[in-house]
Amino acid sequence: MNRRDFIKISSLFLAGSAAMSTQIGRTFSGTGNALAGEHAEKVVHSFCEHCFWRCGIAAHVRDGRIYKITGSEHHPLSNGKLCPRGTGGIGQIYDPDRLAHPLIRERKGGQSTYRKATWDEAITLTAEKLYQIKEKYGPQAIAMLHHGYGYTFFKEMFKSFGVNKFAKPSFDFCCGPRHQGYILTYGHSAGTPEGIDIQNSKYVIFFGTHYGENMHNTAVQEISEGIRRGLKIVVFDPRFSTLAGKAEKWLPIKAGTDIAMMQAMMNVLITENLYDKQFVEENTVGFDELWAEVREMTPEKAAEITDIPAEDIRDVARRFASFAPSAAVHPGRRTQWYADGTQRVRCIAILNALVGNYKMPGGVVKYEKYKLPKAPHHHYPEFEKEIWSQYPLFTDIKPSNTMASHEVMQQTMNDEIKAWFVYGVNVPETVTLGRKATLEAIDKVDFLVAVDTLPMEVTGYADVVLPECTYLERYDDLDGGRPYRTPFVALRQPAVEPMFDSKPGNEIARMLADKLDLHGVFEDSVEEYLDKRLKAAGSSLEEVKKTGVLLGEPTDLYRKPGEKLTFKTPSGKIELASSKMREAGFSAVPKYIKHPEAPEGYYRILTGRKPMLTFGRTANNRFLNELPTARENDIWVNPEVAKQHGLTHGEYVHLKNQAGVVSEFPIRVKVTERIRKDAVYMVHGYGHYFKKLNWAYKRGASHNQLISQTEIDKAIGAVGFQNNFVTFIKEA
Ligand code: SF4
Repeated sequence: MNRRDFIKISSLFLAGSAAMSTQIGRTFSGTGNALAGEHAEKVVHSFCEHCFWRCGIAAHVRDGRIYKITGSEHHPLSNGKLCPRGTGGIGQIYDPDRLAHPLIRERKGGQSTYRKATWDEAITLTAEKLYQIKEKYGPQAIAMLHHGYGYTFFKEMFKSFGVNKFAKPSFDFCCGPRHQGYILTYGHSAGTPEGIDIQNSKYVIFFGTHYGENMHNTAVQEISEGIRRGLKIVVFDPRFSTLAGKAEKWLPIKAGTDIAMMQAMMNVLITENLYDKQFVEENTVGFDELWAEVREMTPEKAAEITDIPAEDIRDVARRFASFAPSAAVHPGRRTQWYADGTQRVRCIAILNALVGNYKMPGGVVKYEKYKLPKAPHHHYPEFEKEIWSQYPLFTDIKPSNTMASHEVMQQTMNDEIKAWFVYGVNVPETVTLGRKATLEAIDKVDFLVAVDTLPMEVTGYADVVLPECTYLERYDDLDGGRPYRTPFVALRQPAVEPMFDSKPGNEIARMLADKLDLHGVFEDSVEEYLDKRLKAAGSSLEEVKKTGVLLGEPTDLYRKPGEKLTFKTPSGKIELASSKMREAGFSAVPKYIKHPEAPEGYYRILTGRKPMLTFGRTANNRFLNELPTARENDIWVNPEVAKQHGLTHGEYVHLKNQAGVVSEFPIRVKVTERIRKDAVYMVHGYGHYFKKLNWAYKRGASHNQLISQTEIDKAIGAVGFQNNFVTFIKEA
């Protein structure tokens, strides 16, 4: 047994099915009452926490209970609509498996157990341990891993304590390359929402982006509306995705060859003189270096690499140019697949630059932020280093993080990090280095605190579990740092009181600050703090509470005739050849690198999302997971592969990866022509092994468990995991 063994939290410490069933029953009966209009209704405007898009929500409350959640009509990212996960927030607040009390790990008779603790006990123990670790090893021995939006008060507390190691797994495999690839090329991020003017686009190319399955509300609304008005879509994807079903062309590209494909498209644009010469001459640097790199990548050569016929490559490049500047290549999401994610995103940015679509209707646009004065903060001690990452071009976008999350794992294995404070991220099932490597790191940690709403796998390894209330029961900091078409500041506010013995993160952080003698970090109550910030922005908490949002003037999106463009790159121009990449010792222009092939009888694992499931937060949501298509994941297998392995549609198999790791739970086979013969596909986020997640436990197979091989992008520290391959073990 490991030193840090996994504890199966007793149901005594959870919200309890019986009590919660009553709540849910009352919730549903409330819906009936709402229709009858018998009771006064309160509508609270806030923002969603089921993914980072953070749409505006309207929580409908009666008799102290939320009975439905709808899209806020005031918030620019919702436009009165939500994706399924947004409406399903009610399944999170009334989840019978919720953590109800603080828990402290104890060892009795050689066995670890949890005991129910008071908040004072749990906070005192946490403060004592953090203090001891800081005294003994220095503040750099403490790291915070986080996801979601409630972490900001903890971050303020930790920075005041001298801790400056922050990491979020989503940087590693999702947003890191898309931000950095764009920043290196244009001097600004690709944005969330992405700076693509889909509302006015005529032609958009996607590389493996699964809109419609990966639901980002505003983008899906814009794409749907675009399709209605005749937007042409091209999808390069080894799998026929939902979006591919809406495309004029689906091109089943061989996984791992996007850079070759995009180089060939550049080759066509340049050879056939289809690029915007004037724009490139006036606004870019590095054209000759780029041409030297892509001149050999003819469509014929790319066809051999990508499995896409040369005439299709020429056709897409020509049509892209013909619709430009109202055409774009979409930057995508979850952009780190191999070790070359940053350069792959740079290819996307370069293709856009070549057709001169920058700040043009239907092209790449740069949204503005609401001019919200920065949050006042406490005096921070001098930090030894601002950025802890060893990777030369690591910079988080805000920057809210100082290292990649796999670096937290590595520094833990090297005994440099001794304590983890984990906020809202189910680390063992979150792709960084895979489940096995993550558990080895967890086993080395001296002290682990988990703040969460549900008993996720990570809480089973914690020394202290601090139950946070859900996003529907608390204030968080303002959402004010994101650029958009209409700049905005959004307010998260409680729709109902916190249930059980859970508390808002801002209050937990305040309690910890007090115990750590960090006086003055949180002088104001959270309402006073928010009011001060909103007053500095020309409004007030009272005012913004009414709609949940404060709107600015719409962004001036488009270039004026003759406007001189400047970019925040070292050259002040769009860098087709990146000077920063060159200085850091990498190729200044993207190069195609061949990735490993699957061993005989194995298939590359591709992964994605379902519309009802995002992160751990939605995994146990009974309202979402009761939908038949959401209950478990399937393994998509091409019919020829199925025949070769004797698999039938609907049967259950175990998956075995190239390192011999076998999936703990079986997965259902989906035999379909919609996947190439050299790959299989499964949705991430299933196969939970924590029994206290009553709805999620043992449903489908875990993708994270099958990751044994990772590649690190040496420029920015992102982690690719697509060089993992599986074969099938039939059930006995
Ligand atoms: Fe919530 Fe869906 Fe919007 Fe994400 S896209 S914030 S899950 S409503």
